[in-house]
Amino acid sequence: MKQLFKFFLLLAIGIALFSRCEQDHSSLPDPDDQIPKEVVIKPNDFLSGENYDRLIVEIASVQGFEPTGEALNNLKAFLESRLNKNGGIELVPASIPSPGKVAYSLDDIKKIEQEYRTLFPDPEEKKLTAWFFFADADYAENEGDSKVLGIAYGPTSMVIFEKTIGEFSGERGQPSTTVLETTVTEHEFGHILGLVNNGTNMVVNHQDVTNGKHCNNQDCLMYWAAEHSGPFINLLTGGIIPSLDQNCLNDLKNNGGK
Ligand SMILES: [Zn+2]
Ligand SMILES: [Zn+2]
Repeated sequence: MKQLFKFFLLLAIGIALFSRCEQDHSSLPDPDDQIPKEVVIKPNDFLSGENYDRLIVEIASVQGFEPTGEALNNLKAFLESRLNKNGGIELVPASIPSPGKVAYSLDDIKKIEQEYRTLFPDPEEKKLTAWFFFADADYAENEGDSKVLGIAYGPTSMVIFEKTIGEFSGERGQPSTTVLETTVTEHEFGHILGLVNNGTNMVVNHQDVTNGKHCNNQDCLMYWAAEHSGPFINLLTGGIIPSLDQNCLNDLKNNGGK
């Protein structure tokens, strides 16, 4: 009888331990939660040198859809002229396999970033990073004749529809590929810098509200049409890349930029 009691006691302890064990397992944090959450980045972190004094821009392209070296040099010079980064600004090209899509939704683009982005902001090292994906297909949400050439979709994340840029550049009556790539990459980075009224306050009101976070000056880099195919980009055939107008420059300076 004593033996039987002992057996049941052990069985009871065993069950108790087992269920405890189960509970412990289920209360373990999800592996994804153990990855430190991405620090929140604001336009001011790019513009001023206070929190971050260097910047690394990851340029991930599908093979055959890389931007020209000249466009990257132009982007670097643009960033150097506006951002206070005494530790330097570096562009790091990377090649990724074609995801094999005929068109990309924003969800697709975010998944590609999750899979392939390797550089993230590091506040302790004062190192800021940004991400460009140069895509081998059009944006899935294109409507009508005007096609989207680029999107800034996160605080440090941008996509350039390089296949679409190829279609609208490099031929007679079109801008050169370098000029169009430079215009669109600088325009998207302008959004990351908080233009227009997109995290960087306006010194005077110059937002083209009808077209979202854009500048109301047709000659400005941040005019809405600079990221769409159409008559505006065909004006770039002269080879002149639009620059930021005084209102946009004032906003950047007022938020810690040069
Ligand atoms: Zn835009
Ligand atoms: Zn402007």
